[in-house]
Amino acid sequence: MWIVYIAAAVLALFLGVISIRAACFRPKKQTSVPYQDVTFDRQRPIDALQQLIRCRTVSNVDPSKEDDDQFQKLISLLPELYPKVFDTCSVRQLPGRALLLRWPGRDDAAPTILMAHYDVVPVNEEEWTKPPFEGLIEDGHLWGRGTLDTKATVNGILSAADHLIGQGFQPKNDIWFAFSGGEEVNGPGADNIVDYFLRHDIHPALVVDEGGAVVENVFPGVKKPCGLIGIAEKGMMNAQYLVRSSGGHASAPKPGGPIGTLAKACVRLEKKPFKMRLSPPARMMFETLGRHSSFGYRIIFANLWCFRWAIDLLGKLSGGEIDALIRTTVAFTQMEGSTARNVIPPEARLVSNMRLAPGDTVQSALGYLRKTVANDRVEITVLESFEPSRISQVNCPAWDKVAATVSATWPGCIVSPYLMVQCSDSRHYGRISDHVYRFSAMDMTAQERASIHGNDEKIRLESINKAVEFYIRLIQKC
Ligand SMILES: [Zn+2]
Repeated sequence: MWIVYIAAAVLALFLGVISIRAACFRPKKQTSVPYQDVTFDRQRPIDALQQLIRCRTVSNVDPSKEDDDQFQKLISLLPELYPKVFDTCSVRQLPGRALLLRWPGRDDAAPTILMAHYDVVPVNEEEWTKPPFEGLIEDGHLWGRGTLDTKATVNGILSAADHLIGQGFQPKNDIWFAFSGGEEVNGPGADNIVDYFLRHDIHPALVVDEGGAVVENVFPGVKKPCGLIGIAEKGMMNAQYLVRSSGGHASAPKPGGPIGTLAKACVRLEKKPFKMRLSPPARMMFETLGRHSSFGYRIIFANLWCFRWAIDLLGKLSGGEIDALIRTTVAFTQMEGSTARNVIPPEARLVSNMRLAPGDTVQSALGYLRKTVANDRVEITVLESFEPSRISQVNCPAWDKVAATVSATWPGCIVSPYLMVQCSDSRHYGRISDHVYRFSAMDMTAQERASIHGNDEKIRLESINKAVEFYIRLIQKC
C-alpha cells in the first residue's frame, strides 16, 4: 500500500515542479522602446520600387534563359533613383552580378554591411491576377515579382541612405551595401564580395541580410507579433539514390526491380526522420517565445529537461516549420526511371533535397542515409551541398542594434533569435564575421509569405516605407 502513497507523492511533486516552472516562465523585462516617428518623403521610395519591379531581373540556373539587358537596366537605373548615394559612395561591380558600394564613415573601426539581392525567381504569368512586371499600384498595394523578395530591402537600404545623406548625415564607421544578382540560383556574387572583403582584411562589426520578418501565428500558443532575426541558417544537401539493373522487357520481370527498391529506400527514410537537434538558435527561440506562450505550451517549453520528446513528437506529426527548426529534413523531389513504358530501367534514381540542422554535417547526413536505407544496391551520393552556417552571437552590440531597431520600428513585437530554414547569400559571411543577422525589414501576413516565390506577390505601400524607416534607424546606429 505504501508504494501507492510514494508513487502518488512523487507524481504530485513532479506535477507541482513542472507547473511552478511553467508559471514562472514569463517574459523577461524588455526595455520598452517608444515609437519615434521618422520623417522623410514617403512617395519617393514607392516610385523607386515601382521602377525596380519593371526590370525583369529573373535569374535562372541556365544563364541562356536570363536576360542580361534587364539586369543592366536595373543597375543603370540606380543612380537616377538614389542620386545622393551614388554621389557619395564608391561603386564596384564584381563578377557574378555583385554590386558593392562603400559609404565612407567618420572613423575607421569595423564597418557595417547591408545586404540584399536584386534578382527574382521566375513567374507563371498566366496564374497571376495582375501583371508581375508592370509595377502596378492598386488598392494600396504595389504588385510584382520581387516586391517582397527582396527589391523592397534593396530599395529600403538605398532610400534610407539617400534620405540621410540629404540631411547631411555621415555614419560613424563605413557602411557597405552588398547586392547580388544571383542569390536565387546560388550564384557566386556574394561569395566574390566576401573574397573581396577578405583580400582587404575587412571584418564587419555587423552584417544584415534578408531572412526573418515580423510575423504572427508562427509559434505554438503565441498571439503577439514576433520579430524573428535569423542568427544561423541550415545547410543544404541534394542526395541521389541510384539503382542499376540488367533492364529488360517488362513482360517478364524479376523480383526486386529498381523502382521498388528505390520506393523501399524512400519509405524507410520517411518513416525514420533524422534525430531531433535542439541547436542553440532553436533553443534560444523556444526560450524567448516560449515565455509568451499559453500555459499549456509553457508546461512543455519551461520543462524541456523532461519534455523534449513532446517537441520531437509535435515536429514529427505537424512537419512544416516547427519540424524544420529541430532536425535535418529530407524532401524527395525528383525521380527518374525508364524512358519507355514497357522497359525495366537499367538505371533508376531518386533525388532528395535536404536541409541540414546545425550539428549535422554533409558527411554525417550521408552516413545516416546509408545506414537507414541499409541496402548496398542503392548507391547514395551527394550532388550539391553546403554545411550549416556559422551561428552568430546574441550577447553583443551588433545584435542589440538590430534588435533595438526592430523594436523601435514595430513596437510591441517580441524580438527573438531563430534558425533560418532556407538559404541566403549571408551564409558566405560566416567566413568574415560572427555578427551576421537575417531579417527582412517587413511585417508579413501568412498570405504575403505564401506569395514569395508563388503567384500574386505584392507589397502594401506602407510596408515599403516601413523598410525605409528600419534602415534609417539602423544606419543612425552604425
Ligand atoms: Zn530572397
